[in-house]
Amino acid sequence: MTASSESVRERIRAVEGTGMRTFWEPDPLVWARTEGCHVWDADGGAYLDLYGGFAVANVGYCHPRVTEAIRSQAGAMTHCPSAAPSEIRAELHERLVAIAPPSLDRVLLAITGAMANETAVQLARAATRRRNVVTFAGTYPGRTVGAVRYAGKHAYREQFGVAADAHFLPYPDPYRSPWAGDADPAEIALGLLEDALSDPASGVEPPACVLVEPIQGNGGVVIPPTGFLAGLRRLCDRTGTLLVFDEIQCGFGRSGRMWASEHEDVVPDLMTVGKGIGGGLALAAVLGRPELMTTWEPDAVTSTFLANALNAAAGCAAIDVLREEGLVERSARLGAHALRRLEDGLAASPAVGDVRGRGLFVGVEIVKDREPDPERAGQTQRVLREQGVLVGRGGRYGNVLILAPPLVIEEGVLDVGLDTILGVL
Ligand code: PLP
Repeated sequence: MTASSESVRERIRAVEGTGMRTFWEPDPLVWARTEGCHVWDADGGAYLDLYGGFAVANVGYCHPRVTEAIRSQAGAMTHCPSAAPSEIRAELHERLVAIAPPSLDRVLLAITGAMANETAVQLARAATRRRNVVTFAGTYPGRTVGAVRYAGKHAYREQFGVAADAHFLPYPDPYRSPWAGDADPAEIALGLLEDALSDPASGVEPPACVLVEPIQGNGGVVIPPTGFLAGLRRLCDRTGTLLVFDEIQCGFGRSGRMWASEHEDVVPDLMTVGKGIGGGLALAAVLGRPELMTTWEPDAVTSTFLANALNAAAGCAAIDVLREEGLVERSARLGAHALRRLEDGLAASPAVGDVRGRGLFVGVEIVKDREPDPERAGQTQRVLREQGVLVGRGGRYGNVLILAPPLVIEEGVLDVGLDTILGVL
């Protein structure tokens, strides 16, 4: 393949419908090849990807074991109808249960994170015979018409004319929770939830579930104060509400533990996983307590490519790589190193309001006089790209630089990326 980046962009511009993120910026990077933590563009330019392709490449791009598993599966069977059991599906299920939190012993597969979240909410509704959902400002559940109803950003729904279908509460952000004053934002958020659940005149129907990201990813790597998840667990137990953790972005080793909720020792009733577990292919799942996962009759959930053999093979290999290469521990060790370097190096930068992280999942909040500065964040992201380093950008104001590099990254390579960031900021 020899086409230049510009010609690829032109060909796509000529025929692609609008609405995708492709031309969100005028000259998007044209991806041509990936390996480990590196991306090459169509003109041969090399980039260190500290965002892992939207937090997907946990085991690195084109990990040789994942690639081999895909090759070998492709020679035997790629598609098999979701109605037909296959050994590779059994292998995947067993691996998912082996890494799941205790008592989440049943699996239902999905293809995307959004689909997994939809399935989890429907499971909660079926089990509780309630339909309301409580979630939080900043929640990113995916963008299908079903999942987007639980999104913390109403802008995601506007163009589709879809209404919200959840009761939203503030998510406790230790850096930016103006509504909490000087109080602990977790205590205030939990108090609001308790009130919503117990006041007969709160106007909030008893919910089927509380859907929450243990660390908000697209919300800007927001790590809630210690005690928040445990408080949710207590309130859910007291009110017969199911607790659903979305670990799609913060899970699978990203936070330095297998699941971000492990930092607080809290086990949900249902948990959704996705992104990295497919090793680069489209795979997601709901894991849950057996009694919640076995209420449906056959054919309640289906999709043509559900349990696709190729995706399952890639998922099995990705799980094996994560465990056998000790990538979760690596994420904890390198993440602590990265956080220390960024905290020290950026402490005096007036453009940086906060640096936070767990494992190789780090957010750098760009501000001007403490107010969110999305322009500066965007400009920083562009300059970093010009210098060969890719970072993400999120947060409710678009002012948080997000680092979610492949967990296989070498320390020296990570340091090169961090040096570049420190130089630019
Ligand atoms: N949940 C979280 C926390 C996510 O970060 C994402 C995607 O960014 C999703 C759900 C949606 O996943 P998908 O884009 O695979 O539908």
